[in-house]
Formats: sequence, structure tokens, C-alpha cells
Amino acid sequence: MTAPRFQRILLKLSGEVLMGQGQFGIDPATCDRVAAEVKEATETGLEVCMVVGGGNIFRGLAGAAQGFDRASADYMGMLATVMNALAMQNALEKVGVQTRVQSAIPMASVCEPYVRRRAERHMEKGRVVIFAAGTGLPFFTTDTTAALRAAEMNCDALFKGTSVDGVYDADPKKVASATRYDTLSYDRVLADNLKVMDASAVALCRDNHIPIVVFNIREGGNLAAVLRGEGTSTIVQT
Ligand code: UDP
Repeated sequence: MTAPRFQRILLKLSGEVLMGQGQFGIDPATCDRVAAEVKEATETGLEVCMVVGGGNIFRGLAGAAQGFDRASADYMGMLATVMNALAMQNALEKVGVQTRVQSAIPMASVCEPYVRRRAERHMEKGRVVIFAAGTGLPFFTTDTTAALRAAEMNCDALFKGTSVDGVYDADPKKVASATRYDTLSYDRVLADNLKVMDASAVALCRDNHIPIVVFNIREGGNLAAVLRGEGTSTIVQT
């Protein structure tokens, strides 16, 4: 039997993924579909933790552009990620996957606070841990949170689920001849300013030798396929 490619991964979902075909908010059917994919992945023995974004509800930068104080707007964005985390927890528990939400901003009556060693114990027991409220600090993003938590939790890879099947040399929605990379180096991503994750997230993954796997989570069955090394993706590594 071939050894599994990964033992533990962090799955990053942007808020946009959770709004499904809608323009705003949380689409329950999309949460259910993603939950089914995560369940399938955990059934292979893979340990999964997740970071969810909040862009489907509120983004700090957009709030600041409308006149909110940037730090306050960022806290609002972080609170949005908690709503998404609870929605995903609900969807996962509906299909029988034990899940814990840990928030970087403590809110004891809603979820656990982020405690790394406790998260570690949950994962050892096969629970999916969803990290909410980003880093808990304004001026950061959930991409950076994903890289940070992936490093803290000793993940073998960071899986970034998006609505495109990898990283292209131009926007595939605008340029018909755009070509997808199979693999890319961290340095190339940074030097060419390729839109994978923000620069601090990429640098954090590079410094901690965590490959970033960019794949399309909107396509049913794709997470399992990419985990088996079969689906289409771009892998960012050294
Ligand atoms: N945010 C923050 N600090 C963090 C993570 C997130 O201030 O550590 C805020 C920020 O305002 C951001 C919002 O939360 O715009 C939602 O996160 P993000 O934009 O990363 O979500 P995504 O694009 O993945 O949906």
C-alpha cells in the first residue's frame, strides 16, 4: 500500500467560497457540500484543521474605505469569520464529524478560545478544529492566519480552496491563453507577485517548509482527488 501523501493538513477556505453562487453571506448548501468533502478526507485517517475567511460578510479594507476606522473594521471582519466557522461546524457535525471551533478572540459562550495544545489534542482524537477570528489582530488576513496555524499545528501542507483550479500566469477569467502552473517556488510567487496568498503568508510557509496546494474547492470531489495526487492544482514549494 502506498503511504499517504499527508498526515495532517490545514484547509483554508475564503469567505467567498461559503457564499456559493450568491453575492453575500453564507449558503447552507455550500457548507454542506464542503463538509461532505472534509468528511471524506478525514475518513482516510487524515487530520484536518481549517481556517475560514470572512470576506463573504465583511472585509476590513472595504469597511475602512467606507469611513470606518481600519482597526475597528478589521475586528468586524474577524467577527465575520466566527460566523462562518460556526456555520461550517454545524455542517460538519450534521454529517457526524466532530468539530471544535477555537477563536483567537475569546468568546466563551460561543466557542473555545484558541489554545494550541488543546487544538493539538482535538486533532489527535480525530476532531476537525476550525480556527476562527483570524490571528485576533487587525491589519492581518486569514491567509496569514492559515500559514501561522499550519506552522503551529505542524501541518504537512496548506490546502487553499478557491474558485480556480490553481495559479495562472494571467487571470484565466479574462485571458483565454492563461496557463496554469503545476508547481511554483515560493520565491517566484513573491518576485512575480502572483496572486496565491498574501506575501506574509507565502513567506511564512516558505520559512517553515509548508507546501501550499491551490485547488478548486467548488468542484465536487476535488479535495479528495487532489489529496490522492490526482486532481488539478498548483503546488507552491521550494
Ligand atoms: N482580519 C484581521 N486579522 C486577521 C484576520 C482577518 O483583521 O488576522 C479581518 C480583516 O479585516 C479581513 C477580514 O477579517 O478583511 C476577513 O478576512 P479575510 O479578508 O482574510 O477573508 P477571506 O478573504 O479569506 O474571505
